[in-house]
Amino acid sequence: MLGNWLLCDFHIHTSISDGRLPLDEVVDLYGAKGFDAISITDHILDSKTLKERQKKKEPIGAIKRENFQNYLQLLWKEAERAWEKYKMLLIPGAEITNNWKKYHILAIDIKEYIDPTLPAKKIVEEIHMQGAIAIACHPHHKATEGKQPYIHLWRYHKKYVTLFDAWEVANRDDLFNVIGLKKFNYIANSDFHEPWHLYSWKSLIGAERNPEAIKAAIRENSKVSVYLFRKEKPIEE
Ligand code: ZN
Ligand code: ZN
Repeated sequence: MLGNWLLCDFHIHTSISDGRLPLDEVVDLYGAKGFDAISITDHILDSKTLKERQKKKEPIGAIKRENFQNYLQLLWKEAERAWEKYKMLLIPGAEITNNWKKYHILAIDIKEYIDPTLPAKKIVEEIHMQGAIAIACHPHHKATEGKQPYIHLWRYHKKYVTLFDAWEVANRDDLFNVIGLKKFNYIANSDFHEPWHLYSWKSLIGAERNPEAIKAAIRENSKVSVYLFRKEKPIEE
């Protein structure tokens, strides 16, 4: 709790896709740490990568189209519990993951399945038709993971810049200087997969505690602040 500033994380995975912890444990972890608003954004996956993983008998690590409404129902149920127990907002989301064409897009407040195989522009249009927020994920090379290749959105940023509501200027431990230099609308998220990812870059949003006000503040992007959420140091005797 920081006055009118809400402590937020809009990029969180659970064991429903490829995260380590089950949904309820993720909610309890963030709730107990005093977060004001989170979005659970498990992966949905492009058809080509999905087929490859099935062929190799690898874990899919994503929600399938036929399970998507069940996933949203689970999130809405947890959202109720998060609000009752912690006064924390849980906004249903998804990471629309195209590993073939190399773009990952967050949809915050998603209501219907969106096919990650679609072109990026079309995905963002569908997100907006659902009244959701579109965020360009980890849009440049990640220093912490070597030269990760998901930079399609950056490569074509001139055509995408006004399309997205915000770009990740920070993702977990990485800071994307290029996004700051371009003065794009920005947001900072943890891309949480493991418990230790909790201690990473987050966003403070100046907004009322409700999803519409938070979405409006992301679009407006005047009261958004990057915040490093650190582990408490043990008290010295
Ligand atoms: Zn991603
Ligand atoms: Zn992610």
